[in-house]
Amino acid sequence: MEQVKILLNEKDIPKQWYNLAADLPTPMLPPLGPDGKPVTPDMLAPVFPMNIIEQEVSTERWIDIPEPILDILYRWRPAPLRRAVYLEKLLGTPAKIYYKDESTSPPGSHKPNTAVAQAWYNKQFGIEKITTETGAGQWGSALSFACSIIGLECKVYMVRISFDQKPFRKTMMNLWGGNCVASPSNETNAGRKVLAEMPDTPGSLGIAISEAVEEAVSDKTGKTRYALGSVLNHVMLHQTIIGLEAKKQLKMIGEKTPDIIIGCAGGGSNFAGLAFPFITDKINGADIKIIPVEPTACPTMTRGEFAYDYGDTACMTPLLAMYTLGHAFVPPPIHAGGLRYHGMAPLVCQAIVEGLLEPRSYHQIESYKAAITWARSEGFICAPETSQALAAVIDEANKAKEEGKEKVILFSYSGHGLMDLLGYEAYLSGNLTDYKMPQEDLDKFTSVLKDNPKAEMRKSGKW
Ligand SMILES: *Cc1c(COP(=O)(O)O)cnc(C)c1O
Repeated sequence: MEQVKILLNEKDIPKQWYNLAADLPTPMLPPLGPDGKPVTPDMLAPVFPMNIIEQEVSTERWIDIPEPILDILYRWRPAPLRRAVYLEKLLGTPAKIYYKDESTSPPGSHKPNTAVAQAWYNKQFGIEKITTETGAGQWGSALSFACSIIGLECKVYMVRISFDQKPFRKTMMNLWGGNCVASPSNETNAGRKVLAEMPDTPGSLGIAISEAVEEAVSDKTGKTRYALGSVLNHVMLHQTIIGLEAKKQLKMIGEKTPDIIIGCAGGGSNFAGLAFPFITDKINGADIKIIPVEPTACPTMTRGEFAYDYGDTACMTPLLAMYTLGHAFVPPPIHAGGLRYHGMAPLVCQAIVEGLLEPRSYHQIESYKAAITWARSEGFICAPETSQALAAVIDEANKAKEEGKEKVILFSYSGHGLMDLLGYEAYLSGNLTDYKMPQEDLDKFTSVLKDNPKAEMRKSGKW
């Protein structure tokens, strides 16, 4: 029997995070303030604690993981690397398919890797309460979990439509002591304003971000800060423990550097977490195909523009240089709730501009089909977000079969789907539809970008 579970001991957990900003052949463009000038750390201080801001702007290659953070991560880390031999057999592929299993964390996804770190740094800085937004509920439950372990208050603004459709995510937050309210709410000026104009609105991530930021910056005691679950540099940093563990695990069984690396990308953090420690090998000459996957219905990397844009609908955040569909983008109601963000992590985007990555999109029906193939071979039920990565994995494994090549494929299994059975129900009963945005609608959303400063696509030209 092949080894299908590759496990590390606690003592083998990585002791440092990897920062891609140190190795990018061409540096990222800096975030800009409303005046068009680069933002300074001081400008971010009302929103984030200074120790996190230092990580956000750091270009150090390696950053130590504090021991107390590791102590919390040991609950599920090092996470297993598994080989999908049952899927390989079903497909009849000569490819070897490995996956990093991030579904084993208490809330069931990769998100607590950064939630724990962020909560810990906030606590160190003397903060008592963290506010955040959540779409589908994965991030809100991860942060509630982290705050409960570390001893912080946690307030989550959950997009109204998900709040109503996914009541058990709220239950998870509550059982970890988090306070979850539907957004727009009556608790902030931003929320009250929207409710007065549109009492029946389903809400949006943009509104929820505005509410969470407002609550953080308006606390006069100065003991509240805001946390973001993806997109920003420090979040990518905290997630690199995924790829660093995977590297050790592949080495442990004598496996070569993967030929293909795949991860789904919403704000980019789970993809980055797995891929960044391998991108450095590619920069240094390794031949690796690295594929971030997104939904065709929210095609940020494959059809968006590289531009300076706001991170939220209300334009409260700095301008980030990234691929974007425009901050007013209204995503169609696809089931991969974690992949409906209009932008993408600036670090991931600079790697795309450089030519190091090959982004790709899939429709949700093909992704669910891949998830069913997975469930009926490997057995596990994956998150709808993860199913997008699986669609690409199956394509690449089939291609390896056609070419007769024993390729090594590594992908990020970002979460389980046991809280997301509604989407599976829709697929199984034939009620799921695909959506491709007409070009003129896309043009309308991206037209807001013409008023922003231009983002130059700078690259070395090596890839
Ligand atoms: C949130 C989420 C994603 C996407 O978020 P990223 O920041 O792009 O990683 C992917 N998979 C799962 C299971 C998620 O919960």
